[in-house]
Amino acid sequence: MEFVNVIVDISHEKLDRIFQYHVPEALKNRLQIGMKVNIPFGKGNRQMKGYVVGFSDEADYPLDKIKELSGIVEGSVKAESQLIAMAGWIRDTYGSTMNQALKTVLPVKQQVVQKQSRKLMLQIPREEAETLLEEYVRKNYRAKARLMAALLDWDKEGLDYKKASEGLKVAPSVIKRFQEEGIIQIKSETIYRNPFAGHFKKKEEKIFLNDEQKAAVEGIWSDYSQGIRRTYLLYGVTGSGKTEVYMELISRVIADGKQAVVLIPEIALTFQTVTRFYERFGERVSVMHSRLSDGERFDQFMRAKEGGIDVMIGPRSALFTPFSQIGVIIMDEEHEGSYKSENVPRYHAREAAVFRAQMCGASVVLGSATPSMESYYRAQSGIYGLYRLNKRIGGARLPKVSVVDLRVELKEGNRSIFSRRLMSAMEERLQKRQQIMLFLNRRGLSGFVSCRSCGKAIQCPHCDVTLSLHNDGRLKCHYCGYETGLPPVCPACGSKYISGFRAGTQQIEREVKRIFPGAGVLRMDYDTTRTKESYERILTAFGRGEADVLVGTQMIVKGHDFPNVTLVGVLAADISLYAADYRASERTFQLLAQAAGRAGRGREAGEAIIQTYMPEHYSIRTASKQDYEEFYRQELMYRNLMEYPPVFSMLGIYLSSKDEELLKRQAQRMGDGIRKRNVKRLTVVGPADAALCRKNDVYRKVIYLKHAREDVLLNIKNGLEKEMEKEAALWQKLYIQFDYNPLNAY
Ligand code: ADP
Ligand code: ZN
Ligand code: ZN
Repeated sequence: MEFVNVIVDISHEKLDRIFQYHVPEALKNRLQIGMKVNIPFGKGNRQMKGYVVGFSDEADYPLDKIKELSGIVEGSVKAESQLIAMAGWIRDTYGSTMNQALKTVLPVKQQVVQKQSRKLMLQIPREEAETLLEEYVRKNYRAKARLMAALLDWDKEGLDYKKASEGLKVAPSVIKRFQEEGIIQIKSETIYRNPFAGHFKKKEEKIFLNDEQKAAVEGIWSDYSQGIRRTYLLYGVTGSGKTEVYMELISRVIADGKQAVVLIPEIALTFQTVTRFYERFGERVSVMHSRLSDGERFDQFMRAKEGGIDVMIGPRSALFTPFSQIGVIIMDEEHEGSYKSENVPRYHAREAAVFRAQMCGASVVLGSATPSMESYYRAQSGIYGLYRLNKRIGGARLPKVSVVDLRVELKEGNRSIFSRRLMSAMEERLQKRQQIMLFLNRRGLSGFVSCRSCGKAIQCPHCDVTLSLHNDGRLKCHYCGYETGLPPVCPACGSKYISGFRAGTQQIEREVKRIFPGAGVLRMDYDTTRTKESYERILTAFGRGEADVLVGTQMIVKGHDFPNVTLVGVLAADISLYAADYRASERTFQLLAQAAGRAGRGREAGEAIIQTYMPEHYSIRTASKQDYEEFYRQELMYRNLMEYPPVFSMLGIYLSSKDEELLKRQAQRMGDGIRKRNVKRLTVVGPADAALCRKNDVYRKVIYLKHAREDVLLNIKNGLEKEMEKEAALWQKLYIQFDYNPLNAY
């Protein structure tokens, strides 16, 4: 090890590169990845700090340009090293600059003003203070008298500075004089903001786990006690008690002196969920979410770093909590798409969690009622351990699900957005004063063409995904670039009704109010939840029974338990089936199964009605039977046949540029270059126009690579990165992003 690669203070955008330093003999055996080091920097050899990100035996620069490392910053924090190693892994796996990766894993490093509490502590005996007070009163020194009286009142706990200066209107100069005369001392301490402090009480009541829950806990714990660390999939229907399993594992890990990270999709991070964790673990819990200010965020991380908490709950960024010894990482609703970052680096929190767990010797528990294809595939292959919870707690039954064929409704003259069946079920529930949720599946709504008479959407003959309608009126496949004109009538059945279900949530709300004038309706969608608390407010209001019907997009199917909801209506189940990517069926199954799971969480039996133009599609058939295994079997055949993940690995290469010609040329060159490598059994698809092929006058193209082995794709990626670095001039006006196993169409 002759040279060390160092990243310099990440807050400077300009330093987004790696600097190389010579390693002094004395440090050769001590340096480790992630260590904080002192380095001479710039012309004046100013001493700066940096992080070690790698080593090499060869110099990447002329030898006389390479300076010598000054030293190691002692007490380099272990947690930080782990995070930096993670940044390195993220960069290698998902493709990004080191700086982008570091910004992802390290907490906001900007100067955040921390809340300081300043207390005035009386330094003289009480009798002396009382004498002084009398003197001030006699001499009519009012401010001094007020201050002294308050100091005597707050003798023990100290008088808050703000209270003295603002509350008692004592000028800072007076406080200063007291300080100078030795009457008081000012004690300051940093208060870390805890967004939920004081909201909850720890509950001592104990829940007894049922047999299925026990089997999961004891199985995982038995591995843990023997030093075995693995990833487990906890596959349990909604309401089967997964959260209790997580909490039991966490409390054991805490008793073992370690910490826990609980990942929850932002959308499911509700008051209800958080409450349960606070009630179990008290103030040793903290929460991260996107609405925290940078300061609050930073504080949460500081509390974790300094051992002030044991459990961090939050969306994917909570994974980067600087705990020193994580014992378990939980990922609830592991199938959720929001676990994958849609910004560079496009990492998947599931993979990143497993990596971090390996580094710190933690177990990983993935939980879901509808596991992702990836996780179930791995559980089936024995890579993940698998535990099942098949029963709902308290014997609540899974809801009865029925499917309504909208084509038949159309044929029989019902052109309303509600089928007759759903309408009568709604009427019945309203009479019984039970609640209803109407769910509009809007995922992938943009630009597909489907037929209202036969339900077929127009598909790419090569990729088996739905074609998407572009502004120029052409239908395109954005995996392979195939395109065709828009047919005037349905190619399958000749009907002229060829543009699916177009209603939005607002229209549905209006319809409900028109048909059931007495019903109270709440709507929850992107428009109504833009302000900070509105999401929580709407859910709470509905939970309190302030409305009979809740209309919403996929956000209503997550997290909350509404015992009085006995009917869930899914208005157009197939919309997400038409999304122009290979995960459309998986997402549809998940959404439908989860939506149906919302009904009947209480004592009353629940019912779900799924309206669709494609009742025969396996996603809809299996979801209506809540038959995950059957869905998985069918979907896996399709993935296998079409070489999609999880059977194959896939690498998306996204190219964009303002220069349309240049983009076209370079994308073609890149595609040809990859094909010329003659990698065995590699499938190269494209280049093709992206789903959004032009955005703000930037043109976008995609190339997809498929191969059975992940490392083959990573090799190609690394090769491409090197080539682009060499031909920097050619690629300068293009922006390239890599996306490993993409979730959404670019
Ligand atoms: P999931 O996370 O699988 O949806 P939860 O953990 O939220 O399920 O459990 C559903 C409900 O059942 C919760 O109100 C929870 O407190 C309760 N519960 C879970 N396990 C038990 C148990 N063993 N005994 C009694 N109640 C339980
Ligand atoms: Zn048709
Ligand atoms: Zn295609």
